[in-house]
Amino acid sequence: MKKAYSMKISTKLILWFSLFVLVVLGCLWLFQVLLLDDIYGAVRVSEVKDVAEAAEKALEAADTREAAYDIGSAAYRKLTCVTVYRIVNTVSEVALDFHVSDGCRIHDAGGDAELLNRLYISARNEGGTYVGRIPELGGGKHHPTIAGSAFCVKLLSRANGSEYMIVANAEVTPLTSTVSTLRRQLTWISLTIAILALGLALLIARTVARPLSKLNEGAKELARGRYGADFRSRGYRETEELGETLQYAAEELAQTEKLRRELIANVSHDLRTPLTMIGGYAEIMRDIPGEITPENLQIIVDETARLSSLVNDLLDVSKFMSGTEQMRAEIFDMSATAAEAVSHYAAMMEPQGYRIRFVGEGAAPVRADRKRIRQVLYNLLSNAIHYTGEDKAVTVTQTVIEGRVRISVRDTGEGIAAADLPRIWERYYKVDKVHRRAAVGTGLGLSIVKSILDAHGAKFGVSSEPGRGSDFWFELPVVK
Ligand code: ADP
Repeated sequence: MKKAYSMKISTKLILWFSLFVLVVLGCLWLFQVLLLDDIYGAVRVSEVKDVAEAAEKALEAADTREAAYDIGSAAYRKLTCVTVYRIVNTVSEVALDFHVSDGCRIHDAGGDAELLNRLYISARNEGGTYVGRIPELGGGKHHPTIAGSAFCVKLLSRANGSEYMIVANAEVTPLTSTVSTLRRQLTWISLTIAILALGLALLIARTVARPLSKLNEGAKELARGRYGADFRSRGYRETEELGETLQYAAEELAQTEKLRRELIANVSHDLRTPLTMIGGYAEIMRDIPGEITPENLQIIVDETARLSSLVNDLLDVSKFMSGTEQMRAEIFDMSATAAEAVSHYAAMMEPQGYRIRFVGEGAAPVRADRKRIRQVLYNLLSNAIHYTGEDKAVTVTQTVIEGRVRISVRDTGEGIAAADLPRIWERYYKVDKVHRRAAVGTGLGLSIVKSILDAHGAKFGVSSEPGRGSDFWFELPVVK
């Protein structure tokens, strides 16, 4: 069954862009065209209300003559007509009057008593203030097309007993022509924006998607085992970084592949030598009874030991690399463990003239996987024994510095050239690949050491000078 993929980047981008453009244009249409009239009406009503409030404040503070200036300036500022009536029994006498705008219904009506009464009753019913837009009150005979009239009526009683009615009034001009201009404009704007947005979305989608699909192609190549795929990409930091990561992965895979081939070559060589020896000696001893000597048997024993150590190394490496081996931390004395490893090797190697010494500073408890640390010691010791010089001396020292116990394994051999130092920890790396191969190990020992010490977060290293031997060391924190 074919896998159902999620949407393509470009489709998604175009969809989001279209949605964004729709929302923006929708807002524009809504506010500029559909609601413009209402918004303008509401603004006008609130202006008229401001003027009436200013008039009310002025009248509360002073008598009509003194208040006239403040009321007039408010009226002119907001282009709103204001008339103040004194109330004696009914709405009667005009106390102040500012006629500042043509479309005013009060002035057009010429003091329409019915309208005044209606406004007075509305204000009284609403607790002294009436604010509103009266649509049917168009511009009267002079302005029949006006869309409505904005009113604010306030009833006011002064301390001296006189009563006033303030009527602020302004026209709400019809916006039909403005709206149709805006509509035409918006149509063009909408079209232009839609086309531009679509173009932009396509452009972005292409520039984002192209490096990604290039990386995808490269990754497929990689999966097919072609490690030379090109992952360099330009455009975005994320894709560049992804490209670099893939490049790194490809190089690592290529390296692993190379090492794997080398391993097969090495292992088959390393297996063949002892097998040939074992087979050869066994045949000799079968055919010539006089050859069944302890020396010949020892050769078979030695070669068998080499084979099993090779197989053990390979098993360890594969366990570490696959991560199946769990660390089992416990507290133990590093000094005693090192001394024990030394004595084990000493017992085995002293008959052959080796001098393996341990110099310690006393108990140093550490928390680590004892079995693994012992393996580190064995690997370092067996290397030192392999490579040490004529004097066949190997020294293991244990010191405690700043809360860390340091174990160092020193030999007196040829040492390691500076150029090789960083590489000896790699899997299957052997310094002298040609001459020593048959004589020494698998090239795995130090990589096992490194894996174990890395897993412990331990510091480790080697100092070596050609001709003066090597000093392999590691450090673990002492537990209190
Ligand atoms: P091997 O099994 O070949 O010893 P290792 O991983 O243990 O593999 O070591 C890698 C290489 O590092 C060895 O081939 C050897 O050339 C070099 N090496 C390791 N230990 C020593 C040492 N004590 N003195 C000199 N060279 C060493």
